[in-house]
Amino acid sequence: MSRRLIYAANWKMHHGPVAARAFAERFGATVEPREERELWFFPPAVSIAATAEALGARSDTSVGAQNVYWEQKGAFTGESSVPLVAEAGALGALVGHSERRHIFGETDADTARKVTALLAGGLVPMLCVGETLAEREAGDTEQVVMRQLRAALDGRTPAELDRTLIAYEPVWAIGTGRNATPSDAAMVHRSIRAELARLGARGRAPVLYGGSVNARNILALLAEAELDGVLVGGASLDPDGWAELVGLGG
Ligand code: PEP
Repeated sequence: MSRRLIYAANWKMHHGPVAARAFAERFGATVEPREERELWFFPPAVSIAATAEALGARSDTSVGAQNVYWEQKGAFTGESSVPLVAEAGALGALVGHSERRHIFGETDADTARKVTALLAGGLVPMLCVGETLAEREAGDTEQVVMRQLRAALDGRTPAELDRTLIAYEPVWAIGTGRNATPSDAAMVHRSIRAELARLGARGRAPVLYGGSVNARNILALLAEAELDGVLVGGASLDPDGWAELVGLGG
């Protein structure tokens, strides 16, 4: 049997509730659920409910938040807690996306607190890790990615580790049209998996690749057995394009 592949769409700051609903309805009408495929949608917070409602109760599809705050409630203007996004229909959230780390200055410690809040609230963290171009050119890819992983996941129980999804997203590949070669990505995925095992993961942790994935490069990436799926920004924004992409690689 082929491995179960995960296709995750990060819509970033696109698709308000009206567009998100229309997207999800069109996608639902054209893409059949497949046993060996899992789909995640990460709409903007204001569109989580519309997306979840329009996708309905498909067993292959989950909606997640792009970000959460670690406190449960209180005076945190502009933030959304885990219970709030869960009430809107989110089953998980991205954590540590490079845009959160590099535009909004989120630290490894912030990322760890968010993972804690998600796990405590019963949601799936999709932890994003990845090096900048300068870090790669300095030969520090492995060290940076392992530091980010350990900061977020050290001390978790095996059950918590098994509920966590990892996305390896080299910062220099996000939204740039440049992607890691399949073998470069596979090498980092192998190290991530080894580190997860050292941290206590029991199962084969799913590790996704993200960074300028599109219909032209996805087959070569997914041909690497180390890649369990993809996290996609730009190429997930059009419903027909996304429907085509999730049909590739299975
Ligand atoms: C992302 O936002 O996680 C991403 C990988 O974006 P893009 O596919 O546009 O590079």
